[in-house]
Amino acid sequence: MTDEKKRQIEERLSELPLAQYAWIRPEELEFSEQVRYICETECSRYGTSWACPPAVGTVEECRRKCLSFEEGFLFTTFSEVADIADLEETLACRTEHEEITRQVCESFRERGLAVTALSTESCAICETCAYPEGPCRHPDRMFPCVESYGILVTDLAEKHEIEFMYGGNVVTWFSLVLFRET
Ligand code: SF4
Repeated sequence: MTDEKKRQIEERLSELPLAQYAWIRPEELEFSEQVRYICETECSRYGTSWACPPAVGTVEECRRKCLSFEEGFLFTTFSEVADIADLEETLACRTEHEEITRQVCESFRERGLAVTALSTESCAICETCAYPEGPCRHPDRMFPCVESYGILVTDLAEKHEIEFMYGGNVVTWFSLVLFRET
């Protein structure tokens, strides 16, 4: 992507409440079977959504998909909740982050780029996911969870000096947008 196009995108993104961001290269993403194992053994969403494993494909398939893009954009937003231990309240805040992720993707698409995005937690657009009986009802709005691809996003954030431990009741949400020229 040209520096001028990047500048235009940054100008557009300055209108959104992003906490921090970094431009990354897909080659620096690390894909771990161990992260996938944690999904499988510790997450109740495993096998219940198109946004989670095994529906997203094997870690190797996820890696190949990510590497088919030329560049990436990692960003965070944050929300303050009354009690971070209240999972229901905490997860409810992520709706705003998902909407911001859609707007970030749109900023890239408006400049003629092909885009895919991974976001935080499992998809919650539908009350009950269509998986596995039928296809995803909103494939253009649904973002697989970044960990579902075997990516440990906190490692990537540390590498790019993106903060994610604000303490107190502040929740940090991540999204990773990958893009290429069409
Ligand atoms: S949009 Fe609906 S069908 Fe698709 S992954 Fe999300 S919850 Fe499932």
